[in-house]
Amino acid sequence: MTTAALVRPQVRTMTARDRCDRCRAQGYVITFITGLPLTWCKHHFEEHEPKLLAVAGIVRDERDWINGPPSHADEGHIERGHE
Ligand SMILES: [Zn+2]
Repeated sequence: MTTAALVRPQVRTMTARDRCDRCRAQGYVITFITGLPLTWCKHHFEEHEPKLLAVAGIVRDERDWINGPPSHADEGHIERGHE
């Protein structure tokens, strides 16, 4: 179980200027751990996802926007896009 709130925004707030804190690739996920925002690319977020969801208070997940605006983002389950 996780207590992290997974936020799936309908409006993209991250931009191409948001960069992964690990590899400087474009960031799609922000986690807030003890109030500090950390930006993750898709690759690094998914690599650490179980741990991050366990410790992060809020996860802002904009991976749906990698290929454009999400069309069915509110169906109650996480859809994995094609790589
Ligand atoms: Zn990265």
